[in-house]
Amino acid sequence: MTHSYYPWQNRHWQEVNSWIETGRLPHSLMLWGSSEIGKLDFAKVLAQRVLCSSPVESVACGQCKQCQLFTAGSHPDFMLLVPEEEGKAIKVDAIRPLAEFAGKTASQGGWRVIIVAPAEAMNTNSANALLKTLEEPGDQVLIVLVSHQPNRILPTIRSRCRLVSLPMPETATGCEWLQKASGKDMATCAAALDQAGGKPLRGLRIIESDLQERYREFTELMDRLENGQETILNAARSMVMLPHLDMVDALQRRIYGYVRSPLLQGQAKAEWVFRYLEKLSQVKRRLQSSSNPNPQLVWEEVLMDWKSVLDLAGLNTQVRDAQ
Ligand SMILES: [Zn+2]
Repeated sequence: MTHSYYPWQNRHWQEVNSWIETGRLPHSLMLWGSSEIGKLDFAKVLAQRVLCSSPVESVACGQCKQCQLFTAGSHPDFMLLVPEEEGKAIKVDAIRPLAEFAGKTASQGGWRVIIVAPAEAMNTNSANALLKTLEEPGDQVLIVLVSHQPNRILPTIRSRCRLVSLPMPETATGCEWLQKASGKDMATCAAALDQAGGKPLRGLRIIESDLQERYREFTELMDRLENGQETILNAARSMVMLPHLDMVDALQRRIYGYVRSPLLQGQAKAEWVFRYLEKLSQVKRRLQSSSNPNPQLVWEEVLMDWKSVLDLAGLNTQVRDAQ
């Protein structure tokens, strides 16, 4: 694992590092911002920096015993708490060992660092259990919460953390990084970054996976649905085979495309579209939650609602004419 942060995090890194160097590092930090912009990596780089015994130019040296233990994933003073499965809850059973860990003496004589990611995955019991540790952290204990949705975290937890909002990169910075990381040409990287909504790590995932092909399938499916060549039921059935969250993102981007197009200019009916976009955000949260919604039903609802919006806003005929 790399022991340096991403180029677009430079300013935030320098700030956090200055807290370390002047002995002002708080006991609890919350790193928040969009998903797939490298927040968890920032947290890990910070953990290694704090544990490293001889940092070089603000980052961990990567050489010392502490760094070796950290890189091997066996540092006894480091704890990473993530859900057992992506999208599932972090349960209270997982939080309990954390309290014990935070209460004991560091085995390497320095800091103990705990990362919880994403922090909104904690259910109420877990959050309450964590709160106790946050209220009375031991000496030299650093708890880093990583969050894409800080408003879903108990206010009592949020208020005990110093908030650090991590940014998305400028397009040029994101593209440059993506080129180095993927080894692909500029045009491929620019297209992937665009499909990723500007999130560089997602851009990399798109390049390294078959997501671009899936996006093409999605676009064809939506074209057919909007043209009345595909039923909602069939379209939902096809949608279930595609990666859900990425497809909800793709649908959001498609709709933003309509919002920017002349089709909606000057139309008070744009309100329907914005209300629908809000609904899509809720759908995304449902798909990310631990409630296990039935994907076929979710997609039927999403597509049916989109068809109604097209009808209400009088967009369907215009879309058809424009194609
Ligand atoms: Zn080191």
